Amino acid sequence: MTHIYDKVAVIGLGLIAGSMALGMRKWGLAGSVAGFARSAETRETAQSIGLVDTVTETAREAVTDADLVILCVPVGAMDAVAADLAPSLKPGATVTDVGSVKGAVIAAVGPHLPEHVHFIPGHPLAGTEHSGPRAGFAELFENRWSILTPPEGTDAKALADLRALWEGLGANVDVMEAGHHDLVLAVTSHAPHLIAYTMVGVADDLKRVTESEVINYSAAGFRDFTRIAASDPTMWRDVFLNNKEATLEILGRFTEELFDLQRAIRRGDGQQLFDYFTRTRAIRRGIIDAGQDTDAPDFGRGGKPKPGDE
Ligand code: NAP
Repeated sequence: MTHIYDKVAVIGLGLIAGSMALGMRKWGLAGSVAGFARSAETRETAQSIGLVDTVTETAREAVTDADLVILCVPVGAMDAVAADLAPSLKPGATVTDVGSVKGAVIAAVGPHLPEHVHFIPGHPLAGTEHSGPRAGFAELFENRWSILTPPEGTDAKALADLRALWEGLGANVDVMEAGHHDLVLAVTSHAPHLIAYTMVGVADDLKRVTESEVINYSAAGFRDFTRIAASDPTMWRDVFLNNKEATLEILGRFTEELFDLQRAIRRGDGQQLFDYFTRTRAIRRGIIDAGQDTDAPDFGRGGKPKPGDE
């Protein structure tokens, strides 16, 4: 395929940047990919495993002459990174990001960018609990959604090219308003992560249950919580600090429903529990029908059922 951009710069060389760089190179979406990370260790690793074509010593060097610049650092670092590289942006270039929150990133990055670039914020709904330059793989975005939140009046060609890049990486692309993105993600990702962190913390606090019991008898539910709760602490700290309002709104609703179910258990109201679980089961069916997860038992992990598996 003919490439979409002559030169792409990825700033940050972790899971998302690495996966994008590998994918762009594998499927010929960019003429060349330059990359920068703040630590020498990450830059050396990226260089040694051939994550990008060129690793640079500064962000400014990486973005010089780039047609597309992708900011792949934690949400809380976007402001300083954008301020640093802005003077070296090529006129007509597109700047995008992959941050998990959009409103706060737009507020942090937008003011630094010169008039002569197109700023199209984005967020791929794909990831793993692993991070760093060795965590990336080209297929990460296949059949996942990538959401773009272009401001009103965004250049149509710049938007079409960015959409084509994501589609070239195998993603489905949706366009929405940044505030709406933040509410949707608070429901589907941010609040669930906080709940997982909390549940694993509760198990850790419960000293009457020993560590070996928690590990050996971890039923599917708890095991999945531990996977989510192993996600990168910096990234998730920044998500909650930067999507405060929407996350607090969803957690408020969550707490009300939790109390309601707690009361149903106390009263022995089996019908309420049954009806509630029937409603939630339908949502799972919808996710599988949309091809966003597998219907295989235990997510296709296979192997013998573990004691307590449900
Ligand atoms: P990652 O693997 O931890 O990589 C983060 C990169 O950012 C590293 O290269 C790191 O540099 C750099 N970095 C960290 N703090 C920095 C700072 N203060 N200033 C400058 N650079 C800094 O993270 P990731 O999972 O790729 O996440 C990157 C972005 O993607 C985040 O905004 C996150 O919200 C978003 N995102 C993540 C996922 C996911 O599931 N992981 C999914 C979708 C979107 P060093 O290595 O030199 O420290």
